[in-house]
Amino acid sequence: MTGPNTKNTYEHVDVLVAGAGLAGLYILYCLRQRGLTALAFEAGSGVGGTWYWNRYPGARVDVESTQYSYHFSDELAREWKWSEKFAAQPELLRYINHVADRFDLRRDVKFDTRVTSAHFDDAANLWTLRTDRGDIATARYCIMATGSLSKPYRPPFPGLDDFRGDWYHTAMWPHEEVDFSGKRVGIVGTGSTGIQAIPVVSAQAKHLTVFQRTPNYTAPARNRQLAPDEQREFQARHALWRVEVRHTFAAMTGFPLPTKFSHEDTPEQRRAFLEKRWKEGGMPQSLLASYKGVNVDEQANRVVADFVRDKIHEIVKDPKVAALLCPPLDLPIGSKRPPIDTDYYETFNRDNVTLVDVKHAPIERLTADGIRTANEHYELGAIIFATGFDAMTGTLLAIDIQGPDGYTLKNAWADGPSTYLGLMVAGLPNLFMINGPGSPSVKANMIVALEQHTDWIMGVIDHLGMTGRDRVEASDQAQTAWVQHTREVAEATLMPRADSWYVGANIPGKKRVFMPYFGGFDRYAALCEEIAADGYRGFELSHHGGGRSHAAALPPGASSA
Ligand code: NAP
Repeated sequence: MTGPNTKNTYEHVDVLVAGAGLAGLYILYCLRQRGLTALAFEAGSGVGGTWYWNRYPGARVDVESTQYSYHFSDELAREWKWSEKFAAQPELLRYINHVADRFDLRRDVKFDTRVTSAHFDDAANLWTLRTDRGDIATARYCIMATGSLSKPYRPPFPGLDDFRGDWYHTAMWPHEEVDFSGKRVGIVGTGSTGIQAIPVVSAQAKHLTVFQRTPNYTAPARNRQLAPDEQREFQARHALWRVEVRHTFAAMTGFPLPTKFSHEDTPEQRRAFLEKRWKEGGMPQSLLASYKGVNVDEQANRVVADFVRDKIHEIVKDPKVAALLCPPLDLPIGSKRPPIDTDYYETFNRDNVTLVDVKHAPIERLTADGIRTANEHYELGAIIFATGFDAMTGTLLAIDIQGPDGYTLKNAWADGPSTYLGLMVAGLPNLFMINGPGSPSVKANMIVALEQHTDWIMGVIDHLGMTGRDRVEASDQAQTAWVQHTREVAEATLMPRADSWYVGANIPGKKRVFMPYFGGFDRYAALCEEIAADGYRGFELSHHGGGRSHAAALPPGASSA
């Protein structure tokens, strides 16, 4: 193999991987176990994906750390000790680096290298990947482990070049510490990211102005240090947990499922019960799982949403600010990705924090020294954009992906993403996605989901090898049926109601489609297994032969590995 970061290299491996985040690393591990050769291209200078890029103040996971861990290795689970219930970004990145070192995975990764195109050579039955550093690599199979939230979005406010202060996007945060002491800081966005960053930045900045378009529901995380006995208990149960978790809706365990409808309780009982849940902390595992039907029934949802609105009024001292922080009545709780926080609503009681409503008076432009909205100018020395991502499809569509006969991913997704099981796209053979649209992905514990996807992909690659075949492709009919099923499942819930990134509403012009599969991780994983056991129902498996297409892929002057 050629050395890292040399220009114009050519390599041929069994499997090419885009991305060396949590998914890419597990894929490399699995391929190594099988004796298959692999090469991953990674845009960052290090492993970690999401946790490599998102270094903003307050960044931490909001699935319990013990569960937001790889599960493939009991030894790894025994070795690693999480310090907090919800680990912060530096600890998460240390963990991912530990995994990369522990399993010697870095040697198959080429860093600082972004995949720009993936073209399929039908005759050779090979994918060719090209990168922004001039690399060319071919392989029979290609796996896109590019992340669901990896293409940052910054609204194109005019005047950015005029702004004389510093500006940041939370997903492209500098590696060196940013000091906001003594500064007037503005933050745009109150999604999960803004909600984590706002309390931390407000504690440092001279003044923080929060530009809020849509108020969000959030609940206290109640983060804390993990006790040694909790660590030990999890480690002791790890092997069992790994099995249990595959039979849960969100690929998480350890929280009670709802047993009754809210109307079965009196108002006093409801209040006491939701109060208890609020004290325990958490959102998907707590408030949203308090009563049956919260995700599907307006009335059931309203009970929990109203409880959070009451909490906001209880916590925030200025009634006008509290009212502005309350999400509107037509926004179901949980229909935008539910955040959890540490002192978020409390932060608005600080003297150095101002909340600005940019729904009714939108941001018009940046100026030399701040932000101008439709009715005021705010003087700022630094601006933080916590404005999210072109989620689930943005990163994949940024790569020129082309199958046989010039059929592209852009063609395939012209009317929104269509996939079979979120794993493959009809017309693009031997190209797999991890946590693609149409899979539970962002509606599940992402690590369990990526392990399930990777295991399934390894299964089909093994199966092809054992049966003398070398091509797998999703059928059009299976894909159409899956897309319809995914839509029906979502439409039976309140999820598609919000203008969220789940439906692409945050990106101007993006086709509105509810992208994740919301039928439950358990149901989905069982279906994937059943489909495999049924001879990969809905996939076409065939033999094409072909070879390395070495000469065809090699550009003039490129050197072969
Ligand atoms: P987000 O949820 O998309 O939030 C973006 C925010 O920017 C929203 O408040 C949005 O307002 C606002 N915004 C966008 N364009 C704007 C404009 N032109 N003017 C004013 N405001 C504008 O993005 P995010 O907070 O980065 O979170 C994305 C996802 O990342 C999360 O949902 C979660 O899945 C993941 N995440 C996870 C963690 C974790 O695990 N701990 C932490 C952070 C993020 P509107 O609501 O009105 O569109």
